[in-house]
Amino acid sequence: MKLSLVVPCYNEAENVIPFQEAVIQAFDGCGYDYEIVFVDDGSTDATLHNLKKIFAAQACPVKVVSFSRNFGKEAGLYAGLHYASGDYISLIDADLQQRPELVREMAAILDEKKEYDVVAAYQDRRGEGKVLSFFKRCFYKIINALSKVSLQPDASDFRTFRRSVRDSILDLAEYHRFSKGIFAWVGYSTCFIPYTAQPRANGTTKWNFWKLFNYAVEGIIGYSTAPLRLATCLGGVTGIAAVIYLIAVVLEKFLKGIDVPGYATIIVLILLLGSVQLFCIGIIGEYVGRTFEQTKNRPVYITKEILSYE
Ligand code: UDP
Ligand code: MG
Repeated sequence: MKLSLVVPCYNEAENVIPFQEAVIQAFDGCGYDYEIVFVDDGSTDATLHNLKKIFAAQACPVKVVSFSRNFGKEAGLYAGLHYASGDYISLIDADLQQRPELVREMAAILDEKKEYDVVAAYQDRRGEGKVLSFFKRCFYKIINALSKVSLQPDASDFRTFRRSVRDSILDLAEYHRFSKGIFAWVGYSTCFIPYTAQPRANGTTKWNFWKLFNYAVEGIIGYSTAPLRLATCLGGVTGIAAVIYLIAVVLEKFLKGIDVPGYATIIVLILLLGSVQLFCIGIIGEYVGRTFEQTKNRPVYITKEILSYE
């Protein structure tokens, strides 16, 4: 049995060497063959330099894939899967927030329980603020209500799966990648286990509120067309309201002889309907933009260099 660890790295110069040491400690003498597939996602610090050092030292089987620029973690995972040749494949971060020993436990579950194809870790205790966790809860509620796939709240990308799952994921070559959705979409039976994320070993997280917000929009637009229906619904509702108001105005004019004062009403209605229309065009634009990106058929990433022990 061979295990591949896929590790996307973006500006993780101080972390990659301790990470490799932690992997060696966790896996030596455990009975699995293993390889580490590092993907350098266009780092601007010494990450690639340190990865080359790791490769040259040959302390364990290592592959290093380096990108021509920063393509994002999703692209890094996709490339890593491409080059991973193990029977089991694990996705794990380079910052030591996820302990490599847990990968061994995940592999043991796959060994024992043949009915499972994926073992995914979810965070049992989150060290983040109340506001952020509120928004995350909202995100999972919305996406699970709107889309056909169902996402496990708090499930991370930290997971181990069989080769067949990897092949299915590679078949999804879409440009806008949202791995939580991709995992849910390809299916397979998944065993969820809790884990506690460790504090980052070195450096800072690459996520901030807006990046997370964009990522959430990516997920919702990518996995549901329900927002498109919003325009139809709003159009229907305002249409009905307009007809009712029209009847009311005509009756007041001809039965009661009241002139309807119009100026303020007209301004408010123009502004309201104008904003509703712009909002709906914006939603359609999100989908059109993604269709445009996808029809260009560009690769998800560009590799500059590959080092392999094989
Ligand atoms: N990462 C990457 N490309 C990016 C951003 C992040 O490959 O553009 C990697 C990063 O090096 C780390 C993993 O993705 O190994 C998770 O990133 P981070 O620790 O910043 O996210 P968090 O753990 O805070 O969710
Ligand atoms: Mg991290």
